[in-house]
Amino acid sequence: MKEAQCRVRFAPSPTGPLHIGGVRTALYNYLFARRLGGTMILRIEDTDQNRFVPGAEAYIVNSLAWCGFGFDESPEKGGPHAPYRQSERSAIYKTYIQQLIDSGHAYYAFDTEASLNEMREKAKESGNHSFQYDHQTRKGLQNSLSLPEEVWKNYMAEGVPYVVRIKIPENEQVTVHDLIRGEVLVSTANLDDKVLFKSDGLPTYHLANVVDDYLMKITHVIRGEEWLPSAPLHVLLYRFFGWEDIMPKFAHLPLILKPDGNGKLSKRDGDRLGFPVFPTAWKDPASGEIYSGYRESGYLPEAVVNILAHLGWNPGTEQELFSMEELISQFSLERVGKHGSKFDPEKAKWFNHQYMQKKSEEELILLLQPWLEKHQIDPSVASPAYLASVIALVKERASLVPDLWNNAWFFFIRPETYDQQVYQKIWQPGTTGWITDFALAVEKMADFNKDSLHDLVQEYTTSTGVKMGQLMNPLRLLMVGSNQGPGMMDLAATLGKEEFLARTEIGLQKLTSGAGGN
Ligand code: GLU
Repeated sequence: MKEAQCRVRFAPSPTGPLHIGGVRTALYNYLFARRLGGTMILRIEDTDQNRFVPGAEAYIVNSLAWCGFGFDESPEKGGPHAPYRQSERSAIYKTYIQQLIDSGHAYYAFDTEASLNEMREKAKESGNHSFQYDHQTRKGLQNSLSLPEEVWKNYMAEGVPYVVRIKIPENEQVTVHDLIRGEVLVSTANLDDKVLFKSDGLPTYHLANVVDDYLMKITHVIRGEEWLPSAPLHVLLYRFFGWEDIMPKFAHLPLILKPDGNGKLSKRDGDRLGFPVFPTAWKDPASGEIYSGYRESGYLPEAVVNILAHLGWNPGTEQELFSMEELISQFSLERVGKHGSKFDPEKAKWFNHQYMQKKSEEELILLLQPWLEKHQIDPSVASPAYLASVIALVKERASLVPDLWNNAWFFFIRPETYDQQVYQKIWQPGTTGWITDFALAVEKMADFNKDSLHDLVQEYTTSTGVKMGQLMNPLRLLMVGSNQGPGMMDLAATLGKEEFLARTEIGLQKLTSGAGGN
C-alpha cells in the first residue's frame, strides 16, 4: 500500500460531549494522517438511537475545530464515501448482514430482553455470574439455529421482533495485530454471539463500524484501549466477509488515567477535581448540568493539543512545546506507549502558561478584549499603547486567559474597596502624612515616568528617613485596593500622573474616614 493512500477515521458516537480522551484519539488520527499525507475522515456512529443526544455532533465538530484540526471527509464536507452519518446508511448494512446470514455466520434470535435478563438472574443464583449468549447457551435459546426452520420462519412471517447475532466459532484462535501492543491472541471460546443487527432495523456498532471501515477504505484504525476487547470480534467479521487481506491495521491507544493513577479519567472527574475534561463547555440537554471546558477555563487550543500529544506519545527528546507542524512531522505510533498516562492538571497549566508567553502583545490584547467589553471600559482608558504596556506587565504571571484580566483589572477600574487586613498591617501613624507629602512632590513633577518616580522616591526616603516599604506598601493599597499587582514603579508609571494622584486622594479620603473597608 502506498503511504499516500493512508486513510484514517475518527468515529465518535454522538452520545454526549467529547471527553479529552476522545479529542486525543482524534488528534493522533489527524497527526498520523497528515504525517503520511493521508486522509482524515469524520464518521458519526449514531446507530444507537437510545443513546443519541441532540447537539452532541455539533459539539464534537465545533470543539475539534477549536482545537485546530478538521477533516478531509465528513458529514458536513461530504466526500467520495458519503453519507458519513451511519443513521443515513441503514440500507447498506442490511445488505451486509444478509450476506453473513446467507453464509451461515450470523443467525436470527427472538429472545426478548426480559427473558434474557431472567436467564441471567437464574444463572447468577446458581453461581454463574457470566451468563452470555454463546455457542453453549444458544442451543437452549430462541433462535434460527436452535428452533425448527418452520417455527422461526413463522415467527418472522408474524413479525415477531428479532435481532441478528454473529455465530462465533466454538474454539478458534483470533489474533489481533496491534501496532502498539503487538499480537493479542484470543480464543473464540471466550467470545459471545454479539448482536450485529437490532430489532429497530439498525446495525449495532460492531457491524456498522467494520462495514464502514471496509467501504471507506480505512487503512488504520486508531482508537482508545476500551475498544481492544471488541477487536477480535471485528477481526472475525473481516474474516467472515472475506476481507481479511485488506483489514485495516489496529492501534489501541493507552488510557488517560486520573491524576492519582487510580483508574480511567472519567467525565465527572474534572469538575470534581477542579479541572476540565472537555474541550469546550457542555450543557447536558436532559439535566441542564453544565460541564466545564478547556476553552472557557482559559486554555489556549495549542496548549490543549500539546497536553494531549504528551498523554500517550513521547517524542523521545526533551522537547516539550510543539507546534502542530512539529507534531505532524514527529508523531509516530511507535512512540505511543502501552501503559496509561496520568493526567497532571498542574502540568496542563504549565503548558498553557508557556503558550501564553509565546503570544504576541496584539494576540493577548485580543484575548483580554471580552473583559474590557464586559466591564464597559471606555476606549479612551484603553488605548492600544496603554493596553500594550499593561499586557507587558501582567503577561508573565498569566497561566490561563482570565489571569490577564484578574492581574490587570485595576489598570482600568479604580478600587472601590481597600483590603482592611492589609490596611491594619501597613498603615502607621505617620503614613497619611508621608503619602500626602509625597503626592505633593509628585504633583510638581514635570516628567512622570518610572525613572523619575524612582528618583523621587529615593530622594524622599533619604531626606525623611521614611523607609521604602513604608511608602510603597500604602501607595500600592491606594492604587490597587490590596497588596497585589506588578512592581509599584511600573504600576504608577503606567497609570500615569493624573490617575496616580486621583487614586491617592480618593483612597486617602476613604481610608482615613473609614469608608473604604472590605
Ligand atoms: N463509535 C465508537 C466510539 O464511540 C468508535 C470506536 C472505533 O473507533 O472503532 O468511540
